[in-house]
Amino acid sequence: MLQMRALSRVYRADTVETTALDAIDLDIADGEFVAIMGPSGCGKSTLLNLMGMLDSPTGGSYLFDGQEVAGLSEARLAEVRKAAIGFIFQSFNLVDELSVRENIELALLYHDVSAADRKRRTDEVMDRVGVAHRARHRPSQLSGGQQQRVAVARALVSSPRLILADEPTGNLDTAHGEEVMRMLQHLNTEGSTIVMVTHSPAHADYASRMVNMLDGKILQERRRAA
Ligand code: ADP
Repeated sequence: MLQMRALSRVYRADTVETTALDAIDLDIADGEFVAIMGPSGCGKSTLLNLMGMLDSPTGGSYLFDGQEVAGLSEARLAEVRKAAIGFIFQSFNLVDELSVRENIELALLYHDVSAADRKRRTDEVMDRVGVAHRARHRPSQLSGGQQQRVAVARALVSSPRLILADEPTGNLDTAHGEEVMRMLQHLNTEGSTIVMVTHSPAHADYASRMVNMLDGKILQERRRAA
């Protein structure tokens, strides 16, 4: 699905240069569940942002479904991103003025989807992640684990090819963290490709491949024994 070659991201501020990503080579195939680990500042978020086309590399090549995205315009990147990628964040990023249902439907608003289809697809993902009985609640009325389930539903409703999760369990207690991990694992068995940044070795164990980073480079990769 994606192929990165010598991908770099250098931040420049006045006279200071920070090499956040240093010529990364990484391939991710359809259906994989990849965990990215490493100490704070090693470039995990930068890598996830590039993968999600929220940021552009300063060097190298990034093929998404065979198409080079490294040189695409902002507008075109947004199009590809909208069509293909779902995001899950550590802090859920739900809108508390909206109900659970509205939060999820919002993700379809700028897609070419009729109101009836929006409703049907929202019902379907709420069922899938087990929040249908909370459809009319506000996010703040839910537990952290339930809020993250809503965020997962929002990421899923547009049927993305790739789900990117940045420390999805970072704000959850152990039990709710495990619950979200089991859900991601289940989605992966149903065919979703998932890339997740995590600090938790236990949660990285849910993935089929672990990528360890240090100082903007990939230090080590490990596949889980089948
Ligand atoms: P991680 O997610 O592993 O904690 P990051 O990808 O956030 O690491 O950061 C990698 C490096 O790039 C760090 O040294 C960080 O300080 C630097 N960096 C990240 N974002 C910026 C930015 N917007 N401007 C300048 N430096 C940045």
